[in-house]
Formats: sequence, C-alpha cells, structure tokens
Amino acid sequence: MNTQQNDPAKFVTCPCQHCNGGIEFEATHAGESVDCPHCKLETILFVPRLPKPPPKLVAKPKKGWLKRNLLVSILIGLGLIFFAAVLIVHYFNSDWQFDFGLVLVMALWAGLVISVLAVYLIPSIIAIARNKVNWPAILVLNLFLGWTIVGWVVALVWSIAVDNKI
Ligand SMILES: [Zn+2]
Repeated sequence: MNTQQNDPAKFVTCPCQHCNGGIEFEATHAGESVDCPHCKLETILFVPRLPKPPPKLVAKPKKGWLKRNLLVSILIGLGLIFFAAVLIVHYFNSDWQFDFGLVLVMALWAGLVISVLAVYLIPSIIAIARNKVNWPAILVLNLFLGWTIVGWVVALVWSIAVDNKI
C-alpha cells in the first residue's frame, strides 16, 4: 500500500478574509466557502501562495580582485623586504644599538622605495586599471625590462595603446 497516496489529509492554513485569523483546513477543500471560526463570517478557503525562497546569495569572488591587489601586494611586500633587510644588516652590525630615530629613518626610506617602485610600475598600473587583455605581459616587461628605460617606455606605450579587437 502506498501510504502517501492514501494520506490525503494535507492541511494548510489560510487567513480569513475578514479578520485575518488563520484557518487550518484540508487542502482538498480549497475554494469552498466556510464560516470563519474566529469572526463567524463567511470566507473562502484558499491555499496560500508560499513565499518565494530568497535568491541564493552566492559569495562570488570579485573579478579582478587579484589584479587590483597584485601591485599593492608587490609594493608592500618589497617595502617590507627592504625594511627587514636593513634591520637584519643593522642587527649583525655590532656597533648598532636599537633606537627609534633610526627605525623612523628606515621607515621613511621604505616609503621612498615604495614611491619609486610605484612610479616604476606606472605602465603596469595603467594596464591593469584599463583592464588590458595583455596586462600580465606588460607587467612582466615592466618588471624585468623597465630599468632599461626603453623597456619602461615600451611598456607604457603598450599600456596606453588600444586593445586589438579580433
Ligand atoms: Zn474571520
């Protein structure tokens, strides 16, 4: 015996059209008119529409997140490496004694290095900001040949040039 088919008692609840009180009834009686148990007025039973489940909120990783943070990460990383390198060199220098003035000077140097690097990476920053298709190539050219000035200018021109639409 199929118990599901022999179990028609599927109860639903609808609000009364007059007092809004909940009326529980068998779903098969939908459309029939009954006297409301609350206000005694005649009301029509109906199967209430189920509220739509909210659309699934899928946390999509934002496109371009890596791109936007890549250069910032490179800059901060290089700055920290520079800072750490200076600290280590000083640490092994027996004459050196810790003082905050020196740490401040090193921090300023790190800031200067980051600024110079930021200028050095302008072609890559433009390429990424303009969402260039070939931004990785521009980044590589910029990083490895930017110091030749010619490489930097080529990377800059490349970053400004319009993408060829195929
Ligand atoms: Zn009622």
